[in-house]
Amino acid sequence: MKKIAVTGGKGGTGKSTVATAIAVELARNYRVLLTDADSDCPNDHLILSVKRKKDSDVHQLVPKWDMSKCIKCGKCAAVCKQDSIAFVRGRYPAFVPDTCTGCGACIVACPTGAISEGRKKIGTVYTGRNYGVDLVSGELKIGEMASGEIVVEVKKRAQAIAEKLKSDFVLTDSAAGIGCPVIASINGSDFVVAVTEPTPSALHDLKRVLHITDQFTIPKAIVINKSDLNDRFRKKIKAFARERKIPVIGEIPYRKSAVERNVNMMPVNAEEGEMAESISLITEKLTGLLGL
Ligand code: SF4
Ligand code: SF4
Repeated sequence: MKKIAVTGGKGGTGKSTVATAIAVELARNYRVLLTDADSDCPNDHLILSVKRKKDSDVHQLVPKWDMSKCIKCGKCAAVCKQDSIAFVRGRYPAFVPDTCTGCGACIVACPTGAISEGRKKIGTVYTGRNYGVDLVSGELKIGEMASGEIVVEVKKRAQAIAEKLKSDFVLTDSAAGIGCPVIASINGSDFVVAVTEPTPSALHDLKRVLHITDQFTIPKAIVINKSDLNDRFRKKIKAFARERKIPVIGEIPYRKSAVERNVNMMPVNAEEGEMAESISLITEKLTGLLGL
């Protein structure tokens, strides 16, 4: 089983477009499971027109206080990086649950055992299948902040399903940015595909997200989406890739037909043509780099 993370840094570069298209292309010859780890805003099920079914709830640790054991020392508030515990000397601590990420540090820090482990629902895992692709999609509950934690849980569930289905590939469509959800998406992957577009902000964020992948020493490649939008930045991306010795495994032109397919809940390579050819070449190079 090969695990590929599709990321890119800046939002809107086309990570989901590329992840779904590669999944559909791979599914012509392999069993493929696509994990939508963009839990704040999952959309792979829309692009693949998948009717999702609820698989399971995702829970997170939440601290519970027994004030009869509290000596008002304030240690729990001092260790909380999320500022989820308000403390005023001589008073009992006050918990602000909305910002708590369930790290458990307050439980460890409390000297009297006044804090114990509770749990709360932070999201839902859905499953479905279309275009030959098995989809596992995580969705963070509205108002919750722990999107890194939900990605970890969604990936665990996806791994269990992939093992059951004997999937050849597990693709993870990561969230945008370079924060915890992206790190959780990349962690454990065999290969990273970084999707970018020829704009200054996309190149800037590409460099940042590739810097993260360097920490994991995972092999990687770049896909330039909307490659004919700006030739100057297209060349800059290619120069950066050459300098960093990162292969550019494909360029996808900007075409109205691609937008229309996504609007109509279809992957860009649902029909034969220029888009399908671009994705086919990218997938061929990707499988080549994976030694298949
Ligand atoms: S579990 Fe972590 S984030 Fe939540 S209140 Fe305790 S220390 Fe803060
Ligand atoms: S660390 Fe424990 S004893 Fe100290 S204020 Fe917090 S709950 Fe109370």
